[in-house]
Amino acid sequence: MTGFSDTFTEALKLFHPFLGAENWKYSATLPAFLHSASAAYTAYSLANIVNPDLSETAFYAALLHDFYQKVHKEVTGLREFVKGFVDDKEALDAINYNLAENPDVMPDLGWLVWFGDMVQAKDMNVVEMERLVQKVSEKYKKKLYTYFITVTLPQIGTRSALMNAALSKIPEDSLVLLSKDGAYVITDKQLQMPLTVDVNDIRFALPESIKSSWAETDPALLEDFENGEPKVYTEGMLYNLAIRGFDVGSKPEKVCLTCGLPAPKLYAPQAYGYALYSRSNNEKWSPKVKPLTNLNADFSKRNRKYGMCFWCAYDSAYLANNSFTSARSEEKHFLVGYFTRVVPKKLVDDLAMLLGANVDFREVGGIDLDDFEQGFEDWVSFVDSLTGKGIFQEKPMSVIVDYSSALVVRDFGSVVKNGKRSYLLGDEPILGFVKLLPSLATLAMVSMFYPLKVTLLPDQVIPDRVISYGKSFAMLEYNPYYPKENTSLPPVTLALLHCLKVYSEERERMEVLDMSPEFTKVALHSICPKLGESLTFFKSDMKRFYGVRR
Ligand SMILES: [Zn+2]
Repeated sequence: MTGFSDTFTEALKLFHPFLGAENWKYSATLPAFLHSASAAYTAYSLANIVNPDLSETAFYAALLHDFYQKVHKEVTGLREFVKGFVDDKEALDAINYNLAENPDVMPDLGWLVWFGDMVQAKDMNVVEMERLVQKVSEKYKKKLYTYFITVTLPQIGTRSALMNAALSKIPEDSLVLLSKDGAYVITDKQLQMPLTVDVNDIRFALPESIKSSWAETDPALLEDFENGEPKVYTEGMLYNLAIRGFDVGSKPEKVCLTCGLPAPKLYAPQAYGYALYSRSNNEKWSPKVKPLTNLNADFSKRNRKYGMCFWCAYDSAYLANNSFTSARSEEKHFLVGYFTRVVPKKLVDDLAMLLGANVDFREVGGIDLDDFEQGFEDWVSFVDSLTGKGIFQEKPMSVIVDYSSALVVRDFGSVVKNGKRSYLLGDEPILGFVKLLPSLATLAMVSMFYPLKVTLLPDQVIPDRVISYGKSFAMLEYNPYYPKENTSLPPVTLALLHCLKVYSEERERMEVLDMSPEFTKVALHSICPKLGESLTFFKSDMKRFYGVRR
């Protein structure tokens, strides 16, 4: 990944946060920007396969497929307005119609947009996806193949590594869609399935701190990780993905303490703690075994009765390798962003980069919060400054994209600024989280990507809150199933959280947590009148915010 794609920059420009963060699908947590950009990337990639001449037009037609329907009441002369972004007669014509609903009005373009919209309509399963692809195939008289690839191991890091390695083996011009169940590859080429991942494809150089602690705790683990043929259990865990260089046996009787899966070879579970927390933390793994006493003795034996599987050990090293805090004995937190619907992999990669931008109390990805506030007034220039600065390329970020369930994770431990490292959540994680809320909200507003969760252990449970901490600490009520009038709440909520920086400087601890939706609008106007006003203005005079002259 070297930088944002141009299409991502263009999509960002067209969706001001006050518009892009709104929920356009009332049955799911799905921001307008994410839905539109997803449709656009999908239509673009599909056009590249069936009709490359149309790919650019398809991109804009899909990006704006809901625009007319949702925005035209508020913007008179919408066509002129959009023309400032895309001067393409066909694309402009397309947005006048709801092409996703009426593809035959402009069939060359229509079915590409239809497909981009449909894959996001609900949770897809393999049969439904195949049906959609076949429809496109018929319409464009082009043979298309759909392949489904997945890893259902519970370890997010391991899964990410395996999926990443597998997907790197498919042809560049394929359309890759990620879902909660796994990845769909759509292509006009017949591919050899399963895709084979070699153990060396997922090996990486262990950080020195892990290497030395593993050498001491469990030399066999270090050997297997670096050169050996690790014994693993995979039954029912891999679909259209085969592994090579591993020792895959029949169902073993031993069970991994950490994940609970059958394990053909057990390693010292302390290795997990040493990789992730620079110390062993046996208490974390013991509840699965009775009695809970004296496990340490059992762990340390050469022929141990209890232990951890290779996948779990690999997972700890992978997460640690993608983290800044590995060398410090403090609990690691992850920032997790969720996709609630099928998304193109290319969009996920672009968003992961944005999410991976360093977050701290004053800056997001090198952008000062004050700049961002001004950015509301001139969003297009702001996006140019954001994506043109090259800040994301300079600072390699540590983002883990879980390719089989389409969530994005990043280590949330610390940031390095001017050569100094600061720990984001400090000694009091919850208070630290509360203090970080303005930055998190800014990140969510810049990327228009939510829900976000700060958590010790990344999981696939999607919170129905805009931003939340762990399982219990929800930050402002947001439920997509609220009545329609409240579905515009996320931008209000995010703007409010963004403004809380004013508050947090004045107070030891903010008490404005989890207020009712009705109250958030009032709160925004009282806490930060300037932003409250600009939100109201945006709704009444959108053109001004896009710098369109009358
Ligand atoms: Zn395990």
